[in-house]
Amino acid sequence: MNNTRFHVVVVGAGYAGVMAANRLLSEHPDVAATVVNPRSVFVERTRLHQHAAATGSATHRLTDLLHPRAELRVGTALRIDDGAVLLGDGSVLTCDAVVYAVGSGPARVDIPGGEHAHSVSDLESASTLHTAIEALPDGAAVTVVGAGFTGIETVTELAAAHRRHRYTLVGDPGPDLPDRTRRYLRHTLTGFGIEILAGVAVTEITDDDVHLDDGTEMPSDLTVWAGGFSVPDLARRSGLDVDASGRLRVDATLRSTSRSNVIGVGDAVSIADRPYIRMSCRPRFRSAYTAPAPCGTYCRVATPSNCRSGSPRSASRWVAAGPRCSSPRPTTHHAARR
Ligand SMILES: Cc1cc2nc3c(=O)[nH]c(=O)nc-3n(C[C@H](O)[C@H](O)[C@H](O)COP(=O)(O)OP(=O)(O)OC[C@H]3O[C@@H](n4cnc5c(N)ncnc54)[C@H](O)[C@@H]3O)c2cc1C
Repeated sequence: MNNTRFHVVVVGAGYAGVMAANRLLSEHPDVAATVVNPRSVFVERTRLHQHAAATGSATHRLTDLLHPRAELRVGTALRIDDGAVLLGDGSVLTCDAVVYAVGSGPARVDIPGGEHAHSVSDLESASTLHTAIEALPDGAAVTVVGAGFTGIETVTELAAAHRRHRYTLVGDPGPDLPDRTRRYLRHTLTGFGIEILAGVAVTEITDDDVHLDDGTEMPSDLTVWAGGFSVPDLARRSGLDVDASGRLRVDATLRSTSRSNVIGVGDAVSIADRPYIRMSCRPRFRSAYTAPAPCGTYCRVATPSNCRSGSPRSASRWVAAGPRCSSPRPTTHHAARR
């Protein structure tokens, strides 16, 4: 690292961070990258519903996925300053550029009793859900709130794995999908014995029921909230320009609109002129794939003649692994639309 002239700190080793780090290191041999992540494993979030249902694993060793030259630093970034990243253990990583790739996690459930709701949005929540569903007595009522892709995946995975319970999905499955697909979805869901409650909203959750806005109080021994994701507040805390939901604002080249040596990728960013891109792998992957371009511009300034391309094995393996984002489960044919 001492011989390199340009040091990048990648904050977050999810899909976007790993992809960006690997591509950057493959294409710029004179760039060094430190990847900061709270754990030494990569969490394949697209498989967390399987982790919750105990039908699949969602973790992989990061050292197997990262470029051989990437330095993995297990820790949490507390603040991003100009040219430095402060970590939770008090150490400071100085750098020339930062790739901001902190992703997303469970949304705050802003209704009374929201704290009773489970989630599949991160590893800890999915593990807790797994323990909770295992502990339920036979015939328990399980409610999944939110009929977007995550809710659909979660309810079907749980229903297929734990057939001894009763399942309800609150929401209209795939409202933006073509009619034929919606019919197929409904057919598949009801085939698993899942009751669909469309056209109502949950107003309160207790530990044994959910209240709906039509006045119904529905028994629910376990409630899972699949009503969306939220992003970490690291960018806001670091004084960077963020949108109303806390996502880092970046321009069309993925540079932070307030600090040009911060490049944003993945779920945690809001791209100018395209503020609404669904939090999902496919478009977010694309951003990670192009992120090295702005970093590379800095690199070329710093090392005019030394930037050559290379393609180490692990990096190409990771790129080849991209399609794993679409998990081959009964309900995940939709992943291609994300
Ligand atoms: C159950 C489920 C199913 C899904 N299914 C699909 C699907 O089929 N298709 C699809 O396209 N999308 C799917 N998604 C969405 C997809 O998982 C996300 O869009 C994707 O994970 C975003 O990638 P990312 O790299 O931006 O962030 P993440 O994967 O969230 O990674 C961010 C990383 O940053 C780390 N981090 C956070 N804060 C800090 C910090 N301060 N310091 C250091 N590190 C930090 C996190 O620990 C994490 O490792 C699904 C999500 C869930 C939960």
